[in-house]
Amino acid sequence: MPDLIDLVSDTATMPTPEMRRAMADAAVGDEQRGEDPTVNELQKFAAHLLGKEAGLFLPSASMANQIAIRTQTQPGDEVICHEAAHIRLYEGGGPALLSGCLLAPLIADRGVFTPEQVRETIRPDSPYFPRTRLVAIENTNNRMGGCVWTQEEIAAVATVAREHKLLLHLDGARLMNAVVKQGVPASEIAAPFDTVTLCLSKGLGAPVGAILAGTQETINAARRWKHVFGGAMRQAGIIAAAGLYALHHNIDRLAEDHENAARLAEGLATIPGIRLDPPPETNIVFFDVAGTGLTPDEVTDRLNAVGVRVSYMNGTRLRFVTHLDISRAQIDEALERIRATLCP
Ligand SMILES: *Cc1c(COP(=O)(O)O)cnc(C)c1O
Repeated sequence: MPDLIDLVSDTATMPTPEMRRAMADAAVGDEQRGEDPTVNELQKFAAHLLGKEAGLFLPSASMANQIAIRTQTQPGDEVICHEAAHIRLYEGGGPALLSGCLLAPLIADRGVFTPEQVRETIRPDSPYFPRTRLVAIENTNNRMGGCVWTQEEIAAVATVAREHKLLLHLDGARLMNAVVKQGVPASEIAAPFDTVTLCLSKGLGAPVGAILAGTQETINAARRWKHVFGGAMRQAGIIAAAGLYALHHNIDRLAEDHENAARLAEGLATIPGIRLDPPPETNIVFFDVAGTGLTPDEVTDRLNAVGVRVSYMNGTRLRFVTHLDISRAQIDEALERIRATLCP
């Protein structure tokens, strides 16, 4: 069996020796009581990066999103999001289960919906209707292929939201990929939003954790839900140290992941029967295998047999994700193996 090239997700990254050393050396305390110095430092530094007053360290980005919704809505409220949003598809029905919210899903190419769509979806103020309360944007998005919102696209939606006194949440699990792609500081991208989720364990390479950032008042309220949802921890500085290390060392290098994704896509496009859908913008590469005459399961089995891990998306589409533990040489090697096994 050849060495595994794991392109299944950017969650596949392993903590490096330097990151592990930072974890081993971390000063710790009782996080639940606000006494863990490393968690406190991470929350402060992340809030600063995101241009917000306060940050909250959480076990996962899913929990960060769900707490953002719980903190900023009442049961019966409606949240506007893209139909393929992570909060809608991949968080176990959390908005309904944990917050009693409806979701108003919008259909849009690249996951980027328009201010007109938001305006049309906002409910009139009447006892007949749910109360529209929150708009959630995903940047970069996951299920639409890692697409990036431009500042203009965000501003246009934010303007309509503000006109209607709606709150705005940014699911920025991969926000730093958008930062690097756009060359715009995270604080600028996050500026129009009331709350921002940032995942530390995707491309940033930490083993655990996420940040929710917002005003001090919102984060105080979120802290209560963190406790209620069972996310308040004890000597969490051990894992927060990895998050701090990631924010200090692993943001700019995301550009390499984007270059590798582009290189991978270029190579895939030359393999008969494979079609990029859509062409990648950041570190996520979706491709359709219908033209190979093989089913997605058959392609997956063949790739597994040659040590290339892939994930299934939908229909006849598969997904590769580049990350910290994948080098340019591994991309070239993966392409050789894929070509050899699909075009024998
Ligand atoms: C992965 C992901 C999350 C959830 O992250 P976890 O830390 O795995 O819970 C949320 N939103 C988006 C867009 C994601 O891609």
